[in-house]
Amino acid sequence: MKITFPHMGHMNIVVKAILEGLGQEVVIPPPTSRRTLNLGMRHSPEFACLPFKVNLGNFIEGLESGADTLLMVGDSGKGSCRLGFYARIHQVILRELGYDFRMITLTNRSGNEFVGGLADLGRDKSRREIVSAFWLGWRKMRLCEGIERRSHRIRPCEVNRGETTKVYQQSIKMIDASENISRLREVGRESLSLLKNIKQDRSRRPLRIAVTGEIYVVWEPFVNLNIETKLGEMGVEVVRCLWLSENILHRIHLDFWNWRSKSRALKAAEPYLGYNVGAECNISVGNTIIAKQRGYDGLIHLMPFTCMPEIVAQSILPKVSRHYDMPVLNFILDEHTGEAGMITRLEAFVDLLERRRKRGTGYFKAVWMNLYLREKELERFGHSVIRQSPNGKLIMVDVSRESVWIVINNQTMRKTKKK
Ligand code: SF4
Repeated sequence: MKITFPHMGHMNIVVKAILEGLGQEVVIPPPTSRRTLNLGMRHSPEFACLPFKVNLGNFIEGLESGADTLLMVGDSGKGSCRLGFYARIHQVILRELGYDFRMITLTNRSGNEFVGGLADLGRDKSRREIVSAFWLGWRKMRLCEGIERRSHRIRPCEVNRGETTKVYQQSIKMIDASENISRLREVGRESLSLLKNIKQDRSRRPLRIAVTGEIYVVWEPFVNLNIETKLGEMGVEVVRCLWLSENILHRIHLDFWNWRSKSRALKAAEPYLGYNVGAECNISVGNTIIAKQRGYDGLIHLMPFTCMPEIVAQSILPKVSRHYDMPVLNFILDEHTGEAGMITRLEAFVDLLERRRKRGTGYFKAVWMNLYLREKELERFGHSVIRQSPNGKLIMVDVSRESVWIVINNQTMRKTKKK
């Protein structure tokens, strides 16, 4: 059995490590490119969202490279968006195109069922071997994410443009090539020292912009036109809100200890969305609120054209942005999205955020975490940010040009000096 699967960020490194540990032969399709997209577009229904088209292109390229088995997530109609139907439709299209293959569909209903489906591929392996295959995959994923997060922090301060990207790519290649945990540890140390050695100008105070949206377009750099690297090279520190490991921890109900947890984002979105719309809709709304509470300067919302859950989020975000005084830039990505247009919009957004920072607006941060917005009071006080503390006191924060005013229960008033 020669298994192939679509690209999605670092997913190929992780899935390859697991499948090889389970004794399967893996055929990684060529990196997603314009050709992949064209192949997908040519054979997809026009209304399908961008991930469908790119995944189809990856499958075609994987089959052309010699694969005979396709691995896909989604279990025929179940799930919160069209993704649940994609495995079936891909199968029909590819068979009509004359490809002969077997399709393995992993459920996206629960983390346990997903892992169980994957572990089934190592039926002739011992339990110990299955566990070590998953452990290696997990450690590779965490290391890739750690290196990527660090590169996001270093890139805006690098002295020689492009150095961080080079080191980052080199580290990812080394992680992919490590065949066991001890080699992976060495690679981790090596990568960290390479990143540390990058010449940086620490006097810079880069803007911090959170990136959220539909998971596929946030993770896949070809599809989002490398937006994170572009921002980094414009001198912006990118804070990505969605990570594969957090997603897995959420699926198995273990994501409660950090701010990126999906459960926190879902909770934060509750005043705006009374139920879970599906995919990343509620998470996009919640992350916008959390990003403001953590003091980020702005947020970029990425979504594919015709993505149903993100269309809902997109319609709510202007309200959240107004309530929290949080600048939000939305990008709808499809096969026609041009790089020049994206750069122009990013430059304008960064310019706006720089001016806001100079003016002193929006510097308030972590103090207000764990407090939540009260819409009624917000309307009463106009543009100010109003929250209620856990002890029930109403707190209003008004960040004006010259000063920051804090009003507690509409009686106590304190003026603090601007930083
Ligand atoms: S979340 Fe949106 S873009 Fe992603 S698969 Fe579902 S409908 Fe398509």
